[in-house]
Amino acid sequence: MKPVHLRNLQTLIHSHRRPVLAALGTLLLGTGVVAFGVSPTLPDAAQWPVRQVLETMDTPLAEPALTASAPEFLIHQSQLTRRDDSLQALLKRLGVDDREAQSFLARDTTSRLLLTGASGKLASVTRTPEGRLSTLSVRWVDADKQRVSRLVVERQDIGFNARLEQPTPRRLVRFGSLTIRSSFYAATDQADIPDAIAAQTVEAFSGDLDFQHDLRRGTRVNLVYEAFELDGEILFTGQLLGAEIQHGRETHQAMWFQAPGKAGEFVSLDGASQRRAYLASPLAFSRVTSSYGPRIHPVFGEQKSHKGTDYGAPAGTPIRTVADGVVSFAGRQGGYGNYVVIQHPDKAATAYAHLERIAVRVGQRVQQGQTIGTVGSTGTATGPNLHFEYLVKGVQTNPSRIASDTSVSTVAVAQLPGFKQEVKAMREQLAMAASVAQANAQ
Ligand SMILES: [Zn+2]
Repeated sequence: MKPVHLRNLQTLIHSHRRPVLAALGTLLLGTGVVAFGVSPTLPDAAQWPVRQVLETMDTPLAEPALTASAPEFLIHQSQLTRRDDSLQALLKRLGVDDREAQSFLARDTTSRLLLTGASGKLASVTRTPEGRLSTLSVRWVDADKQRVSRLVVERQDIGFNARLEQPTPRRLVRFGSLTIRSSFYAATDQADIPDAIAAQTVEAFSGDLDFQHDLRRGTRVNLVYEAFELDGEILFTGQLLGAEIQHGRETHQAMWFQAPGKAGEFVSLDGASQRRAYLASPLAFSRVTSSYGPRIHPVFGEQKSHKGTDYGAPAGTPIRTVADGVVSFAGRQGGYGNYVVIQHPDKAATAYAHLERIAVRVGQRVQQGQTIGTVGSTGTATGPNLHFEYLVKGVQTNPSRIASDTSVSTVAVAQLPGFKQEVKAMREQLAMAASVAQANAQ
C-alpha cells in the first residue's frame, strides 16, 4: 500500500472513529445472530441503529487500470426513510452526492418503492468518501404478512441496475423469562418480550388465569417462541410455542400443538385443551387494562365482603361474555346501572354491571368472548369499572372458582403420534428458558 493511501485510511478512521465503533456493534450483532434470550427483540423501526462502516474493498484483478494496487475505500451508511422524505433529502442524509444516481432513482420504476408506501424503511448505501453511490439497499417489513422486501440498486459498468427481492427470514426459537414485580407488562418490557408474545401468553391461559387479579409478585413466567431473523436482526416474532407460569408450588404449562389436519391450539403438556367453558376474565387483558386495578394481588379472600370482582378499566373498554349462553337481562337495574345477566348451559349465570353501553338484547344467544357491552360508570360507581358476578343457583359465588375443571375437550391430542416427543422437547425448552432467567439474574 502506498503511503498516500495509508494516510487517507488513517484520516478516515480518525474522522469516523465513532461510526467505526458503532459498526463493530453491528458486526457482532450480525455474526452472533441471536444469543438465547439475551439479544434485543423486535426492534422498533425508529430505534434501528444508524450505521456507518468503513471497509476495504479488494480491487478486482480484472480492472487493474482503475486504481492500480490501491484498495478503494467505501463507506456504509444507513438511514430510516421519513414521512414526507424527498429523494434529495434522503440521499443527503446518506452522504450520497451523485447526480447520476439521483436521476436514476428518480426515474426508475422499481426504485420508486424507496419512497412510496410506509416510511421507516431501512436504507443503506455503500459510497465513496466523496459521495459516489456504489450500492443502495432498502429493506422493509410487513410484519402482519411476515414478509420482508428488499430493493437493491447497484452501479454497473454503465448506469445502474435495480431489483426487488423478497428474502426469506430464518426462523429461530427464542427463550424468554421474567419475574413479575409490579405488573405483567412491566415485566415483559424489562425482559424484552414482544407485546405479541405477551398477548399470546394471556390467551394461552385465558381459561386458567385472570391476569389482572391472579398474578402475584414473584410469579415467574418462562416462554418459548418463534422469531424471524434476517441479516442478524430479529424482524418479527411468530407463534408462542410454549409457556410456563410458576408461583410457589403452583405451575401452569401450555404448549402450541397442531394436530394433523386441524388448526393449532394451546394444550396442556398432558394433551388437554387449554380452552375452558369459562374465561377467567370478562376483560381481555391488555397493556391498557393491566395498569388498572390491583397491580399486586391482594391476599386471597380479602374481597370476600364484596360479592363479585371489580375490574378498573377506561370507559369504553369492551366487555366479553366469559362463556356461551343466553342473555336473560339487559337494561337498567338500580345501583348496578346498565346491567347484563347471561345464563349458561350449566345453569350458572354471570352478571356484568355499570356498563356504559349494552350491546345485547334479552333472549340473544352469545358465544364465549363475544362483546356484550362496554365499561362505564352507570349506577353506583365511583369511576369507570366493571363489576362482575358469578351466580350459582342465583347466589353470588367467588368468581375464582369458575376457571377450574371446566376443560373443553377437543381432540385427544395425547394419543396422537409425535405428541409425546413434542412434549419432551417442550419440557427441555421450558427448562432452558428458565435457565435464561438464572443467567440474567447473576
Ligand atoms: Zn363491585
